[in-house]
Amino acid sequence: MTISPRILDKLIHSVNETIEQASDEVAELDRAIGDGDHVINLQRGLAILVEQSDDISQLEWVAAWQKIGMICMSKIGGASGSLFGTLFVSMAKSAKDKPFDSSVFAAAFLAGVESMKARGKTEAGEKTMLDVLIPVAEYLQNNAQSDLATVLAEVQLIATQSMESTRDMLATKGRASFLEERSIGHIDAGAKSCQLMICAIATTLQSLDEA
Ligand code: ADP
Ligand code: MG
Repeated sequence: MTISPRILDKLIHSVNETIEQASDEVAELDRAIGDGDHVINLQRGLAILVEQSDDISQLEWVAAWQKIGMICMSKIGGASGSLFGTLFVSMAKSAKDKPFDSSVFAAAFLAGVESMKARGKTEAGEKTMLDVLIPVAEYLQNNAQSDLATVLAEVQLIATQSMESTRDMLATKGRASFLEERSIGHIDAGAKSCQLMICAIATTLQSLDEA
């Protein structure tokens, strides 16, 4: 299956609906160990993306990621806004002037996640969204040539297990780190929202792959 940027319209809507449905749950997680605004921040950015989804899906991949990144940076706010923005802008930079295929996508996603690590000064195991994004990026990089149906099923498992694994971690970055040991026992809100978004994207791609 060749994936065209026209799919972005569907993907943005499905991510938006998933976050809408889980908004109470994500808000609760950020209230427990953060300041409670993560889902509101995200929804503010998603509302603009939905509004512009038709235009975004007319662009080529690199231009679309660049535009999504700029919207994330300027509209989401909080720590997560600049991190999501960095992800997409770095993906655009990595894939610039390359023909789009699964290897270029995997390399771009990995480069985006590396830039987020640098931006947040964060490594794996610090109880953040990166605990979901790093294993997914590494899996994609190592399996860029695998069959799409397998990859789409596997990324959902990895994202879900990784999100769950943040529960027992001690937060050493972001607001949750102020709670020190009391941060243990709660899933990180950003890890949860990333897992939900990754699963929404993978499910939408699965339905097209099967069609
Ligand atoms: P804020 O913490 O500024 O209120 P949000 O509530 O929108 O921002 O986002 C919080 C999420 O951002 C956290 O749950 C965590 O996943 C992520 N996060 C915060 N700081 C960092 C960091 N330095 N590196 C990676 N992720 C981070
Ligand atoms: Mg917050």
